[in-house]
Amino acid sequence: MSASHTDDANIIQFQDINVSINKTDILKRVTARVPKGSWTAIVGPNGAGKTTLLLTLLGQVPYQGKILKHSQFNSSELSIGYVPQNLNFDRNLPLTVLEFMAIGHQRLPISLGVRKKYKEEAVELLKSVQADNLLYHKLGDLSGGELKRVLLALALGQEPELLILDEVSSGVDVSGSRVFCELLDDLRRKHKFTQLSVNHDLSTVTHHATHVICLKQSVISEGVPNETLSTETLTKLFGIHMGLVNKNALSSRRASCDGSCCKKETDKNA
Ligand code: ADP
Ligand code: MG
Repeated sequence: MSASHTDDANIIQFQDINVSINKTDILKRVTARVPKGSWTAIVGPNGAGKTTLLLTLLGQVPYQGKILKHSQFNSSELSIGYVPQNLNFDRNLPLTVLEFMAIGHQRLPISLGVRKKYKEEAVELLKSVQADNLLYHKLGDLSGGELKRVLLALALGQEPELLILDEVSSGVDVSGSRVFCELLDDLRRKHKFTQLSVNHDLSTVTHHATHVICLKQSVISEGVPNETLSTETLTKLFGIHMGLVNKNALSSRRASCDGSCCKKETDKNA
């Protein structure tokens, strides 16, 4: 495996990536790009290799091929934030959200209290994802959507140039998912990171993403969502006629939300 710099237009370029686990091919000759400043969505059926592709980027899975990364700070390594698909932990852990966020920063044992500096940082990060009310909640008591917000706050703490989200809406209800989507749009505008996410909701992808990679072991198609998510591609991906995307209903430029998929919500339980 190797990684080096890509061109200015793309923050990431996957070049001919192959992954095999136990002699089974998981990814085959994946070549794709993540344009700088984009919201790039990866779509594909279960088992398509979406999570595996993200893990190659994070250096968590051995691969063959090349991944080119481009940091705007040319001399330094690309900073990446990651919100995983699942977080498996013991729900009985007597750990508050504040303590969870301070672990990894604080040298002093958390049981002796969280230092003021780390508490202030945690509050700021939680505020940015509208979840500062969760500071003293027990981690194990959080709903799926609340936990995703906490993980997003942690990822933002990395000040990422690239934010990676793996099925961030799984375990979140439809209205919660809309709130999350809108929140990410706001955060991306404010912090100017590039977003790479795995999404199942094709309506969200057509209305919000600017670039899409259709993956089923290999790349089936890649480009702007309204052109790329054609009936033919969706049939190849999911094996059935989806009929969800009306190509003529969307402009060739980035489609803006018509409000039906992303209306303002204040549901803090999202
Ligand atoms: P997706 O995220 O698209 O649902 P994954 O990347 O999680 O798919 O998995 C792709 C395929 O690779 C699946 O068939 C999965 O069972 C297999 N796979 C993933 N990780 C491992 C592993 N560590 N060992 C064996 N098989 C794996
Ligand atoms: Mg996955």
